[in-house]
Amino acid sequence: MTTVTLGKSDIVVYPIGLGTNAVGGHNLYPNMLDEEQGKNVVRTALNQGINMLDTAYIYGPERSEELTGEVMKEYNREDIVLATKGAHKFVGNEVVMDNSPTFLKQSVEDSLRRLQTDYIDLYYIHFPDQDTPKDEAVGALKELKDEGKIRSIGVSNFTLEQLKEANKDGYVDVVQGEYNLLKREAEDSFFPYTEKENITFIPYFPLESGLLAGKYAKDQTFTDLRAENPNFQGDTFHENLKKVAKLKPIAEKYNEEIAHIVLAWYLTRPSVDVLIPGAKRPEQVVSNKRAATIALAAEDVQLISDIFTP
Ligand code: NAP
Repeated sequence: MTTVTLGKSDIVVYPIGLGTNAVGGHNLYPNMLDEEQGKNVVRTALNQGINMLDTAYIYGPERSEELTGEVMKEYNREDIVLATKGAHKFVGNEVVMDNSPTFLKQSVEDSLRRLQTDYIDLYYIHFPDQDTPKDEAVGALKELKDEGKIRSIGVSNFTLEQLKEANKDGYVDVVQGEYNLLKREAEDSFFPYTEKENITFIPYFPLESGLLAGKYAKDQTFTDLRAENPNFQGDTFHENLKKVAKLKPIAEKYNEEIAHIVLAWYLTRPSVDVLIPGAKRPEQVVSNKRAATIALAAEDVQLISDIFTP
């Protein structure tokens, strides 16, 4: 696999990483995979030479970071590019967002402890809060960067305006936002800015939680977070399946699976340097790595785009 650099940082990653929200993510995918299976998903990624792991405090909560940390200890720390995120704060049973410098600094310390490491390669503000000026929030992360506790700065789920405020001093390396063939708003909103500012855009839900992998039948039902997603409901679900089916001949042309073609397509988008598809089984990790080796012809890039034109 060729490598890419994250934003303006000196962090080098392979274009396919691993999203670990199902690893210990008991609050997101209840009873979906046990913790040893989750750790094996992470081990498989690292054994395959995938070096970027994407976790967060709220996956579990805490458990995804803890399990990721346990697996990391079996490998050379410097071979791993570890990304995590914070902003969620429990107030009693309620969760609120907090981007205040004090909270973010404490969150980084807590993540370091759970991950059993002394630095985080990429730390994201997971969600914006209402009150904190975004350049002030990023300023706190810049201080942590200067102290060597984090190596690069990311924001996630920010609007374009919030990103611009966050990046006032040019400190933001990565923005993570929802983007996939069924949700393409970022193309007009974020990409012109991220490309101009040399910020890496990392899409989350690249496979729309499995829908874009081309494996679901019309009668499939869901009991996890997909049960709430409009793309999995009724006629919309059926229309989406029809679009995904149109990818089959393209995938066959490359002797690949639909999921690989979809992932390879994202890597043709401006400033989309890295993908972090999630996986619930080791085979999915091995399979998705293939996407980095596919060079889609220009006419197929266009064809895929046209199939999913909103
Ligand atoms: P995703 O990447 O769109 O979908 C992953 C799911 O698709 C897998 O769990 C698996 O589910 C299925 N799959 C994966 N590879 C496949 C393959 N080759 N063939 C068939 N099915 C395959 O969704 P995601 O995992 O939720 O999102 C990716 C990552 O983004 C997360 O792990 C997390 O790190 C990050 N994320 C961040 C935010 C944020 O707010 N910043 C939000 C969401 C996610 P099944 O086996 O169940 O079908």
